[in-house]
Amino acid sequence: MTNKRVVIIGSGPAALAAAIYTSRASLDTTVIAGYQSGGQLMLTSDIENFPGFPEGIQGPELMDGMRKQAERFGSKFIDMDATAVDFSGEVQRVFVDNDIYEAEAVIVATGASAKWLNLPSEQQLVGRGVSSCATCDGFFFRGKEIAVIGGGDSALEEALFLTKFASKVNLIHRREKFRASKIMQDRVFKHPKIEVLFDTGVEEVLGENKVWGLKLRNLKTDEISDIAVEGVFVAIGHQPNTSIFQGALEMNEQGYLKIYDESSSNVPGVFVAGDVYDFRYRQAITAAGSGCRAALDAERYLEMLEVAEEELVTTA
Ligand code: NAP
Repeated sequence: MTNKRVVIIGSGPAALAAAIYTSRASLDTTVIAGYQSGGQLMLTSDIENFPGFPEGIQGPELMDGMRKQAERFGSKFIDMDATAVDFSGEVQRVFVDNDIYEAEAVIVATGASAKWLNLPSEQQLVGRGVSSCATCDGFFFRGKEIAVIGGGDSALEEALFLTKFASKVNLIHRREKFRASKIMQDRVFKHPKIEVLFDTGVEEVLGENKVWGLKLRNLKTDEISDIAVEGVFVAIGHQPNTSIFQGALEMNEQGYLKIYDESSSNVPGVFVAGDVYDFRYRQAITAAGSGCRAALDAERYLEMLEVAEEELVTTA
């Protein structure tokens, strides 16, 4: 089946696990990895829960290892963004600007991206004190007071990570209770550098060329107050990267792709893996597992395609 082509869109654990499987199965595999290759794990700190690394591993190191493993079996990487798709014909087509990649099977593993509060002041100050990536930008806030927004595992993980640099971390959450796991909550509540502000909304990020504070609203009393911080890390969840699949693949109201019959999308020959459909688990290990499933399903689909083609030749 060496002449059958697979295009994988994405470069996180789902995409790379899929690439390891398809290229190892001798399928001609091209990974459209995007300009920011590696997915969300490039932005995380220590990964402590990926099996096989008892001391933990850095996200970029894990992704680099997965990519090298896929390359070892012959996967080719295009470090550019897929710009459009055409899944209406017998052969699937993925566009990267003016280049067209054709394949008998496509695996979509484009993941999800960080959400923003969408305050005008926040958007004006992105890169000038406002960030969605503690690992990338934490270093710039050595000895400074900062804030982290959110109440899930991401926010608590970022708050804990940022204590390595910041003099104080204000963890701001809109409700009176975190949704993060208990172990993270315990670590946060115990940490001397973290102050938790529950029932608190952000009205405005204060600053001009750089951040100097936050205007906050107590959501129970409506009281407005300012705090002085020089960095603001927004960690309020993610949205799926599915804009190029509008009209081509079925998705739910939030834009997560729908899957049918294990990893198949609604289009035969197009498979789905990772956070682009999985809004429930969103872990590196589950993404990698779903990449493996999509690759095996694609392999089986291509085998069936080949059998059908051979039958056509013998009956002709
Ligand atoms: P999440 O669990 O969806 O949490 C998002 C948080 O942001 C929630 O607390 C939410 O508040 C808050 N939020 C959402 N929109 C907001 C807005 N407009 N303004 C203010 N606050 C807002 O997202 P996540 O923390 O990114 O985690 C996603 C998944 O990844 C989870 O399953 C998590 O367990 C997993 N994860 C695991 C680890 C780990 O195991 N090390 C690390 C990171 C993430 P409400 O609570 O009021 O809804």
